[in-house]
Parts: sequence; structure tokens; C-alpha cells
Amino acid sequence: MPNPDTPTHDYVIFSSGGNDSIALVQWMIENKHTAFVVYSDTGWAQPGWLDRVARVEAWCSSHGFTPVRIGSMGLPALVQIKKAWPRNGLQFCTSALKIEPGKAWLAEVDPDAELTCCVGVRRAESARRSTWPEHVEESGKHGGRSLWSPLVRHTDEERDALLARAGFEPLPHRSQECYPCINANRADLRLLTPERVDEIEALEQGMGHTSKGKPRTMFRPYRHRGAQGVREVMRWATAERGRYRMSDEGAAGVRDTEGRIAVVAHAQAVAALAAYEGTDEAERAGLVAAVEVLEAQLAEMLEDGASTCDSGMCGI
Ligand code: SF4
Repeated sequence: MPNPDTPTHDYVIFSSGGNDSIALVQWMIENKHTAFVVYSDTGWAQPGWLDRVARVEAWCSSHGFTPVRIGSMGLPALVQIKKAWPRNGLQFCTSALKIEPGKAWLAEVDPDAELTCCVGVRRAESARRSTWPEHVEESGKHGGRSLWSPLVRHTDEERDALLARAGFEPLPHRSQECYPCINANRADLRLLTPERVDEIEALEQGMGHTSKGKPRTMFRPYRHRGAQGVREVMRWATAERGRYRMSDEGAAGVRDTEGRIAVVAHAQAVAALAAYEGTDEAERAGLVAAVEVLEAQLAEMLEDGASTCDSGMCGI
């Protein structure tokens, strides 16, 4: 039975506190809707991110919305219990930290599944989100409720205009609800403090090795030029583009076939260019072009700048 003191709304917004979530609340305000605004606490946010969430909640309340925070065991405890890091394709963090706690809350406040769930996903965010549907009739990740993404066609400029009317400056980065996300790209990694890198390293070391003797690391080596372990991944992230050289140890850790081929081909091309001592400009240009082509292929694999979690529950 829902608590009779729970306010009633027709909508529930899943918000990370990032730009698109705030723009969505503003859009709902301008379209005369109110909603629950749910923040899923992953126990892995950037220090200070919850202060921003509190500011967003106060602003939501001032417009008749109902902020809700949903707790979870947190990412560090989750990976230690599972003895594994989540992977794209086996992204159990989304399920354990967001989807299941969210569904449990929905079942409590909305047992008849009448609420419409809303997320601030926009197609302009990335190639991966370019076909995101505006409406999903029954979303399994939301307990069979309908899922609405009103901002799917909004451009960055339109989103920023909503933010301005809401009184929020656009953040120059994605939501920091997970700091970092397991799918973090170079730009995300560059935001990490030394303290958080130490924390990840301690987790990695505490989790030991797989049955095949591979270290359990947060980031997949093939997505980071073969870098293995957060310390090495940070070397990759902070190196100038194309300048990071995979260590032999890192190369041994690359297990994904497609990634391994791409990383090794790139490393060979870089080595060939570095070793070239000839004076034939055309030959040198050919070597430079080969590095650039392989660099571009790898960048595509890395999907720098792409949104990294398409669950409809992660607001990044
Ligand atoms: S934001 Fe990233 S790390 Fe956090 S729950 Fe989603 S996929 Fe997992």
C-alpha cells in the first residue's frame, strides 16, 4: 500500500543532477507538470556532488516537485561482493545500484504502475543515443511503466537555454554520480583526484586476480591502449593523444580480440614512425597517415565523448 502521505504526481523523473536532468525538470515546469525527482545514490559520487544534488532538490521542491533519494549498497561494496568489475555488456552496477532499487521504490509508491517515468536523454548526446525513442510503452527497467524522454530532439543550445532559465550554469562535464563510471573516457578520467585514483587502486589490489591469473581492474585494457590497472590508465588518460605507449605488461592484459588487434596495430605503427630515420618525406607522410588512421579507429572504439550508460536510469 502506498503511504497516504506521499504526494501524488503523474510523472517520475530519474535525475543524476547533471545538465540534462535539470533541463528536463525545467521543461516539465514550463509545461505545467510536476513529478517525483529521483536521485539514485551509487555510493560512488564525486565528493561534493551530493551538495549539488541537495541544491537541485531544493529548487525542485520550490516548484512543487518531490525529490526522492534512493540508496544502494554502493559501487565499492558491490564489486567486492561480486569479486568483479562491471563491464559494458555485463553492467551489473546499473542493475544493482539503480534499476533494482528504483523498481523497488516504484513498486512501493506506485503499485498499479500508473506513473510515467521520464529521463533527460537527448539524441544529440552521442551516436549511441541518436535513435533513442521518445516513448517506450512498457519499460522493463521501470517495472513495465511507460518511459518518456521529452528532450530527445533538443539540441545542446536548447538544453542550455532551459538550464539558463532554471538558473543553473551548464557543467563542462557529465554528471558525477559515479566518479568515475566504469565506462569513463579520457576526459572523465582527467577529472579524477589523486585520492580517488588511490581508492580505485586499493580496490583493484584487494580484489586480486581471476582464475586465469589476470588482475581484476576497473577499466578494460583494450579501451585504454592496453593500460592495465588504474595507475597505468591514468598515464594513458593524461598523455598527449597518440603519445601513450602500452607497456609489455599492459599488452599481455589485452584479451579482447578486436581490441587487441587494434591496439597492437597502433603500437606497431607508432613504433615504425619513431624508428624511421630516412629522409623520404613521402614515406614519412605515409607512416604518419597510418598512425592517424589507426588512432582514429581506436578513438571510435573508445567512443570518446559518447554517453556511457544507456540504461535509462543512469543520467550520464
Ligand atoms: S554511471 Fe557507470 S558506473 Fe555508475 S551505475 Fe551507470 S554504468 Fe555503472
